[in-house]
Amino acid sequence: MRYDYLIIGGGMVADSAARGIRERDTTGSIAILGADSDEPYSRPALSKKLWTDKDFGRDQVSLDTAADTGAEVHTGTRVASVNRSDSSVTTQAGDRHEYGTLLLATGATPTGIELASSPRVVYFRTFADYRALRELTKTADHIAVVGGGYIGTEIAAALSGQGVKVTLVTSDAVLGGHMFPPSLAAAFDKGFAGHGVTVRRGAKVVSGAEASARVQLQLDDGSAVEADGVAFGLGVRPSSELAEAAGLTVDDGIVVDEFLRTEDVRVYAAGDVASYPDAILGRRRIEHVDNATEMGKAAGRNMAGAAEPYSYTPYFYSDVYDDGYQAIGTLSSSLHTVEDWKSVGKEGVVYYLDDDAVVRGVLMWNVWEGLDVARTLLAEKEPQTEQSLRGAI
Ligand SMILES: Cc1cc2nc3c(=O)[nH]c(=O)nc-3n(C[C@H](O)[C@H](O)[C@H](O)COP(=O)(O)OP(=O)(O)OC[C@H]3O[C@@H](n4cnc5c(N)ncnc54)[C@H](O)[C@@H]3O)c2cc1C
Repeated sequence: MRYDYLIIGGGMVADSAARGIRERDTTGSIAILGADSDEPYSRPALSKKLWTDKDFGRDQVSLDTAADTGAEVHTGTRVASVNRSDSSVTTQAGDRHEYGTLLLATGATPTGIELASSPRVVYFRTFADYRALRELTKTADHIAVVGGGYIGTEIAAALSGQGVKVTLVTSDAVLGGHMFPPSLAAAFDKGFAGHGVTVRRGAKVVSGAEASARVQLQLDDGSAVEADGVAFGLGVRPSSELAEAAGLTVDDGIVVDEFLRTEDVRVYAAGDVASYPDAILGRRRIEHVDNATEMGKAAGRNMAGAAEPYSYTPYFYSDVYDDGYQAIGTLSSSLHTVEDWKSVGKEGVVYYLDDDAVVRGVLMWNVWEGLDVARTLLAEKEPQTEQSLRGAI
């Protein structure tokens, strides 16, 4: 088979890229080869609305890619190799497909420990993982969640809302402490305790074992956690193996230029797997949905001949219990912070500054406007003071 546009990976970028292609080319053939058993869906819902809104189900999560764009979507189809010399890819099942232009949209793979996935052990990433965890909640009294980042905290919040006993293991001394200033981390941590979650702080899971319908996790402080199941949210690594094997440059992600093109003019990459030159923040890889949507669309448009540089700087967001935030840039408690609270830990803005007092990140806590101001502050790269930042958003 030959397609004008071939997309490897059937996730959020695949959907937005197909839409981007269609903005410029209404007839060219598009195929999406995705390893996932489900057609493209909205991934953030897996740790949020599917748990918190009983009227939100499978139909709301689907992105309707095939119906809206006419793309052929092949699920359960893992691509094993890319052969750039004859512009073809070969699937694990041995099928060969040729392309006019190729997009690598293979996303990212969860980091694991030496404990095999099973119905009780879920490395949380896919719709199938959501279904497995849902199934587990039907019989489990106690589920451990490992990881204090946004996936771990969202899953812990979701599970505690189902009446399951939850133990959340985080390497932070205070939950959220790697990202938030102490005042906010303290309030964030307290919120979990308030919802009955046991937080095991300052410890990493080093090994695990599954036996007799139980999972036992060994922590690096010598203690253990035993539960009926475990969900891991330990971060991800870019799924860049295909690109690497095809001789493309990979450096914490597939390296692309401002047109989202690799060094091969017929091969593009976008989303969690791509390292791109952000117009404001500099070269980086972003593992967030706004980036997947915008970069995917831009890649699709460029595959169809637009030749437009990707100049958008994406934001990211998370929701936990009744709180939510949006943010741009680097959120790290290793940076200096200026806090501008309307009500501490409830509503306000945190600015992250480097040693030269230049803003590197902006966190808006329960504040749902101001992204443009944040982008401007980040782009100006001017030294700021507490006075200049207070009230800016
Ligand atoms: C549970 C969860 C909640 C999230 N919530 C938020 C949020 O609140 N806010 C936010 O900003 N971001 C959030 N994100 C991140 C966001 O969903 C991702 O950034 C986005 O999905 C990335 O899109 P992508 O297409 O690059 O990767 P993906 O959506 O992961 O898609 C990649 C696809 O490629 C497939 N694939 C990989 N290798 C191959 C191969 N060799 N052959 C064929 N197919 C292959 C995979 O099966 C996968 O389906 C969340 C992510 C998860 C997992």
